[in-house]
Amino acid sequence: MGFLWDTESFHQIGISEYGEIAAEKIPFQKEVQEICEGNVCGNYGATWACPPAVGSFSECQKRCFSYPKALVFSTWYPLDDPFDLEGMQQGHRDFKEVCDRLWDFCKDRVPQRLLLSNEGCLRCKTCTYPLSPCRFPERLFPSLEGFGIYVPALAERAGIPYHHGELTVTYFGMLLYSTQNSIDS
Ligand code: SF4
Repeated sequence: MGFLWDTESFHQIGISEYGEIAAEKIPFQKEVQEICEGNVCGNYGATWACPPAVGSFSECQKRCFSYPKALVFSTWYPLDDPFDLEGMQQGHRDFKEVCDRLWDFCKDRVPQRLLLSNEGCLRCKTCTYPLSPCRFPERLFPSLEGFGIYVPALAERAGIPYHHGELTVTYFGMLLYSTQNSIDS
């Protein structure tokens, strides 16, 4: 992977850890997407980045499997205590900026790409869903969980830690990519 990116560049972007797997090894579990229907996080039916807007379980799988490779990446953030909600929310916002920087970094390296990110989209104060199209479709990074991906197993397969201890929170993303010029969809 060295000709596409390197650890130093990723650290400048703000990525703590990363690992690459074949897209066919992504741990999909239908139950993960079904959990979204319980709307514990409040994002179900509230954004273009989450179910049901992202499509069915099989449609999400098909989108991912149209790319040969997946770069799994994560960033961890310190918390003041295990219930530091503000720290978790700030970490989540910071991680979205990491995703933006990675997206820009990869623009010329891997033109065919799809980025999935932890949980919903925070880009707009109020999401347009479902009344009108996404304001920033080129930067719409759907939810890993909303796609039905079991993130603990994803981290394990990529060879990176799922968490970094009690006083931390870790966010994950995944860049699906091809170095070819076209992707079957
Ligand atoms: S970019 Fe804005 S409109 Fe698009 S999914 Fe995110 S919040 Fe909604």
